[in-house]
Amino acid sequence: MTIKPLIILPDPVLRQVSTPIETIDDDVRRLADDMLETMYDAPGIGLAAIQIGVPRRLLVLDVTKEGEEKKPLVFINPKIVRSSDDRSVYEEGCLSIPDYYAEVQRPAGITVEYLDRDGKEQSIEADGLLATCLQHEIDHLNGVLFIDHISKLKRDMVIRKFTKAAKVRGAKAI
Ligand SMILES: [Zn+2]
Repeated sequence: MTIKPLIILPDPVLRQVSTPIETIDDDVRRLADDMLETMYDAPGIGLAAIQIGVPRRLLVLDVTKEGEEKKPLVFINPKIVRSSDDRSVYEEGCLSIPDYYAEVQRPAGITVEYLDRDGKEQSIEADGLLATCLQHEIDHLNGVLFIDHISKLKRDMVIRKFTKAAKVRGAKAI
């Protein structure tokens, strides 16, 4: 397993729409393992493949608390098939937008259909932090970031800050 470098705002790669995975083979499982290792190292509770520059519909999650036994989850081609009307608010962050947090309102409960790492069709009913985290990561597969759910004023501010920081790093800016 390899820890991969993370793509950071405002890299335009984060705005790419990821494509479905057709064959679940050892390469895909290796990618999932690398993503889990990268996520645990960061540390984070979720990571989409596009955040390490791979535009495929694959994400990993582990929403267990520190000290609890790890419970890594792998979602391939995840699709939200139900969203509840009631909403919940969580303070979200993102490994691609380090050290920035903001409250985001999303449906409190969702049902997601996906393929597991063996290519088996699965369905999960999620609520609480897992529902929020899944929606955050599925957004990444569609080129959407959590800052797209906050006010334009706040979003412009954070994009400006990260664009300035990217220039200092010598990275390409949008
Ligand atoms: Zn994120």
